[in-house]
Amino acid sequence: MKIIVTGGAGFIGSALIRHLVKNTNNTIINVDKITYAGNLESLKDVDGSDKYFFERVDICSKPDIERIFKKYLPDAVINLAAESHVDRSIENPMDFINTNIVGVFNLLTIANAYWTDLEKTKKDRFRFLHVSTDEVFGSLKDDGSLFDELYPYSPRSPYSASKASSDHLVRSWHHTYSLPTIITNCSNNYGPFHHPEKFIPHIILNALSGKPIPIYGDGLQIRDWLYVEDHVEALMQVLNIAKPGSSYNIGGFNEKTNLEVVNKVCAVIDEMFITKFNKESSNTKDLIHFVQDRPGHDRRYAIDSSKISNELGWKPVETFESGIYKTIDWYINNSKWWEQLLSDGYEFKRIGLVK
Ligand code: NAD
Repeated sequence: MKIIVTGGAGFIGSALIRHLVKNTNNTIINVDKITYAGNLESLKDVDGSDKYFFERVDICSKPDIERIFKKYLPDAVINLAAESHVDRSIENPMDFINTNIVGVFNLLTIANAYWTDLEKTKKDRFRFLHVSTDEVFGSLKDDGSLFDELYPYSPRSPYSASKASSDHLVRSWHHTYSLPTIITNCSNNYGPFHHPEKFIPHIILNALSGKPIPIYGDGLQIRDWLYVEDHVEALMQVLNIAKPGSSYNIGGFNEKTNLEVVNKVCAVIDEMFITKFNKESSNTKDLIHFVQDRPGHDRRYAIDSSKISNELGWKPVETFESGIYKTIDWYINNSKWWEQLLSDGYEFKRIGLVK
């Protein structure tokens, strides 16, 4: 297949492209505008491959996206391009409206016109896979309830509202025009090549460099954590097996409070300092401090992954223990990747730490 991956220079998109180029015979066209969040260094392993093409393009540009469809004649689109950081959406919602809503509208109209003219075999095979978030469902009570695919949408930040809007557009393009779309809503991803402004890399890098580790509010907000390579496997299953018009929730079976995540990261780093770097003792937890909560901070997200598990046979391989160890180890061994981002004048957005 020829697959257009939008946002392929981002965290999840680059993991997906590394997987596709290394482990399949598909041809991949990475369509990415390269915002502050896009990083071609994350694709160094595959950028010499004759199965990989890169187009520096904004998904909101009609002429550029039309040109790309005509040039590559894709069999599938996997849309990961997005503005993805909640804090930034509070400060500057316009970029989120443009990319996450107008950009998706642009992709859908062009994909639909292209798909309508395909011959039957190609038409039947074509898929538009839209990658979304569990944040569209809003906030859960701490009562064991879970988001399933039929849970009502109730987004509560400009980011989640823009993603919810895009999900509605995608769903409506299937029902109105029969475009073979599929939507996935996943929980928080973590793993290698994750931008340092996001929660887990931010804690890791501060802990490694002895800087204060800020936690919003009381730190008891609950999130489910999904290792990025498990997510990639789920997307492959969905692309290959799922029926047009379907949606799947993807979670890691790892519900944790933010404080538990920070404590775990600190404990693993302390253990590594002692066993790998021969320090006599280490107490990274002393760096933790609490800062004012984010406005409208959702309390709990938790995913019911039984549909993807029962219908497509997907289950995550990593536990939080194994995934977080791999992630911390990667950041320790790949300082060139993240030092570059810090030295490029990138500003930490997280309250309590402006570099
Ligand atoms: P990211 O911020 O790391 O990467 C986004 C990529 O999109 C970047 O490479 C950026 O340059 C590109 N991009 C942004 N605007 C663009 C535009 N107008 N045109 C073309 N490219 C553009 O995001 P991520 O963490 O890899 O997330 C990927 C997708 O998964 C997003 O849609 C996000 O909403 C969704 N998601 C992410 C998570 C998570 O935990 N990371 C969880 C649930 C859902």
